[in-house]
This record gives sequence, structure tokens and C-alpha cells, in this order.
Amino acid sequence: MSQNEAMVIVGAGHAGGRAALTLREAGYAGRIVLIGDEAHLPYERPPLSKALLKGESSLQTCSLFSEASFIASGIEHLSGVRVLNIDPAQHRVDLDSGVSLGYTKLLLATGGQSRRLDLGGRDFTNVHYLRTFDEAITLQERLQPGSRLLVAGGGFIGLEVASTARDKGCEVTVLEAGARLAARALPERLSEALLTLHRRMGVSIHLSAQIERFHGADRVESVQLASGERLACDVLLVGIGMQPNLQLAQQAGLAIGSGIKVDNFLQTSAPDIFAAGDVCEFQRDDGQFHRQETWRNAEAQGRLAALNMLGQRQAFSTVPGFWSDHYEFGLQTVGTLAPNAQVIERELADAGFLLLYLDAQARLQGASGWGIGNSLAKDIKLCERLIESRLVLPLEQLPDTSVSLKALLRGAHV
Ligand code: FAD
Ligand code: NAP
Repeated sequence: MSQNEAMVIVGAGHAGGRAALTLREAGYAGRIVLIGDEAHLPYERPPLSKALLKGESSLQTCSLFSEASFIASGIEHLSGVRVLNIDPAQHRVDLDSGVSLGYTKLLLATGGQSRRLDLGGRDFTNVHYLRTFDEAITLQERLQPGSRLLVAGGGFIGLEVASTARDKGCEVTVLEAGARLAARALPERLSEALLTLHRRMGVSIHLSAQIERFHGADRVESVQLASGERLACDVLLVGIGMQPNLQLAQQAGLAIGSGIKVDNFLQTSAPDIFAAGDVCEFQRDDGQFHRQETWRNAEAQGRLAALNMLGQRQAFSTVPGFWSDHYEFGLQTVGTLAPNAQVIERELADAGFLLLYLDAQARLQGASGWGIGNSLAKDIKLCERLIESRLVLPLEQLPDTSVSLKALLRGAHV
């Protein structure tokens, strides 16, 4: 085998790590090179705002695989190494170590980075972002009992960190630019549930908040809002969204939208180059292109991209979904929550609920719910199966929780 015969993966995050392991598990015996600019083995990011930030988890428990199994797999992991350039014609990548590497197939799993808050060109030492393990450890050290945490952004990062920080005894204020929390991803009822719960847990939440000025010399001491209010802080966490890492794909001339465009097989516009995870823009059943920034997507696309790099030609069809944890509550979503869908609400125990999203033929398209701990997991799993089944559902019975989702799945009420 020549040095040029290698499966090369750029980005040793969740999708990249899963792809590398899948290549080996699927029987590929050749050279696999996994290149990542972080110093660690591939790890899962969800604990960064939850258990790890609380100090209840470690890098080891977040890792996708143990060091021993990784070594046994024979995957070459170039850690702390950045890919600077791709040459699709030559099938070659250039690394910041000065080395160039040939590839047979290339996977771009470059994920994204935190969107930066405009600080007026100033540098403050107490402004934090949360995307990486290293950032989580730094933030963990700063969140001490009594610390005043100000959060810019009432999305998933902002609210999960708010929840963790309250558990750690911090005083927390959240500034959300929009009129409701996590509005892009969640239906109104879930935004309301989050608002009520966080306020009950002592978080001060400002909606439609516009930051006007930062006061302080090398640290942000307070933030002034357009409303005139001035809020003091010890730590400022910014969670205002994520930007996909598109530079390599752009420079290589690949087709790009809001992410790297791929076909149903996760193949980009260039031969032998695939994309997966947060950076990947794919076509949904309704023909619209979109990206998904979720654990489930990174897991599924990482696996599928690897199989397709091996020539299997399997189309991507995983039902989307995600979860988010706040204090003792969890929210979960599966499928598509289309704005024009008919929504039916099922009230569950302990202030929980499930929202069912149906199309014009009364087939389930998506579901989203709220409940204590992991109590929703079973219902969400059944909803996934109902979505896949494409069964026509009896609308009038759906709000009635004595009619179980399992029975509906068996078609008993159709
Ligand atoms: P990433 O995990 O970002 O990995 C990409 C990697 O590529 C990074 O290590 C990056 O540094 C590296 N890279 C980029 N460019 C280069 C280059 N040129 N050379 C070398 N390396 C490069 N999702 C959920 O569904 N539920 C949750 O509860 C949840 N919680 C989350 C909490 C936090 C704090 C964060 C940040 C995300 C959370 N997510 C959650 C989202 C989920 O973690 C992401 O969707 C997932 O990590 C995406 O995986 P990825 O492999 O596409 O990208
Ligand atoms: P996000 O979920 O997109 O939320 C960002 C929020 O900040 C939005 O509500 C946004 O409002 C608001 N915002 C934007 N600019 C603002 C400003 N200047 N001041 C105040 N608010 C502002 O992004 P995120 O929470 O930063 O998360 C980043 C990434 O991590 C995403 O990929 C996310 O999926 C992932 N993540 C996922 C989970 C989960 O699924 N449980 C948990 C943590 C992180 P607009 O929408 O109006 O712009």
C-alpha cells in the first residue's frame, strides 16, 4: 500500500471519531488517519454544559472510546494538528506541522465554533465561550458558590449552563435577544416551560434584551442594556450560537450553503470527499437543505459517512432528534416540528407534556416534550416509531393519555 492510500478524516470530534471507528469495525484494514486540532481523543460535548461543568464527569467518561480500544484499533490520531489546505485534484491535505498527506477518501467533520459577541474590539479576561473540553474546565473553575454569572444568549448553552451554575450556588442572570427562549429550536410551550422553571430556580431572565455597553477595564464588571439597566457580573458566558467551520471546504471550492452541501450519501460536490456532523448541510425529505447541530446527527452521519467511504452507497434517513437537561427536568424532540403542522397536546404526570406534530393526513411528523428526568424517553422512542410507520392516527384520541402510544403503533385505533 502506498502512503497515499489512506482514509483521512479532518476533525477529531464526535462525527470524525465515530467515522474512524466505524471504518475499522466495518472491516477496513488499511491506513486511517484522524486529524484534530484539539489535544484530546474524540469526546462527546453534551456533558460540557452539564455533568462535566458540575465536576461530576471527566474527559475519560466523555470520550467516545477508551485509549486502549483506540490504540487497539490502529487508527492514527494526529492530535493538536490543524489541516490548513485541501487539494481535491491531487487528493492531498496540508497540515500545519508542514506535512502533506494523500487520501483515497476524505471526510470533513470540522464541526463549528462559538459565535463571538461583539465586545467593541476589547479583550476581557472574564468572558467565556463553551465549545471544547478545555473551555469547560476553565469555566468550571470560575463558577464558584456566590459568583455572579451573566449569560448572553438564552439558547441551549446559556440555559444549560444557567442550570448547572444555579446547582453550584452561583447567582445567574440570562440575557436573551429574542422575545422567547430558544425560539429557533423549540415551540412556544417549551420556551414557556423553560422560562417558568428557570425563574422558579432563581435565574433572572431578561427577554428582548439588547446589550449596549460593557463596563470594566480588563474584566467586564457590568453590562448595560438598551433599557438603561446595568447588571454587575463576575463571569460573562456567551452562548449566542455556533458557526460551522467552512474555511477548508470553501478554499477547496466545494459547494456550500449554510454548511458543506452533500447528497443523500453524504458525498460533497468533490469526488471522494464526504462531510458529516454539524458542518454538513443535507437535503431533507421536503427538499430543503439544512444543518443539524445535535449529538444524534453527529453519531448517525459519522457512522454513515464511513460506510459510504467504503462504497456502500447507503442513503441518510435518520429521524432527527435532540435532548436538553435543566435541573431535574429534561426536554426531548424527535422528527420535524413544522410550523404549519397540526399540534396536539398530551398532558403527562408531574407537569410534563408531549406535543404531537401531525401532517394534513394525520400522520406523525414530529414530537417534543417536557418531563422529569428521563421520563419522556419511552414516549419519544414510540413517537419515532410512529413517525417511521407513517400510520394515519385518530386525531380525537391523541390528547387522551389512556390511549397509549404503543396501542396506536399497533394500529389498534386506526
Ligand atoms: P465537533 O464536535 O465540533 O468536532 C469538530 C472537531 O473538528 C473539533 O474538535 C474541531 O476543533 C476540529 N477541527 C475543525 N477544523 C479543523 C481543522 N482544520 N483541522 C483539524 N481539526 C479541525 N447535542 C444534543 O443533541 N444534546 C445535547 O445535550 C448537547 N449538548 C451540547 C453541549 C455543548 C456545550 C455543546 C458545545 C454541544 C452540545 N450538543 C448537544 C451538540 C453536539 O455536541 C454537536 O452537535 C456535536 O458535537 C457535533 O459533532 P461534530 O463532530 O460535527 O463537531
Ligand atoms: P443557540 O441554541 O442557537 O442559542 C443562541 C441564543 O442566543 C438564541 O436564542 C439567540 O437568539 C440568542 N442570541 C443571539 N445573539 C444574541 C445576543 N447578542 N445577545 C443575547 N442573545 C443572543 O446556540 P447556543 O446555545 O450558543 O449553542 C451553540 C451550539 O451548541 C449549538 O450548536 C447547539 O445546538 C449546541 N448545544 C446543544 C445543546 C442541546 O441540544 N441540548 C446544548 C448545548 C449546546 P436568536 O435565535 O434570535 O438569534
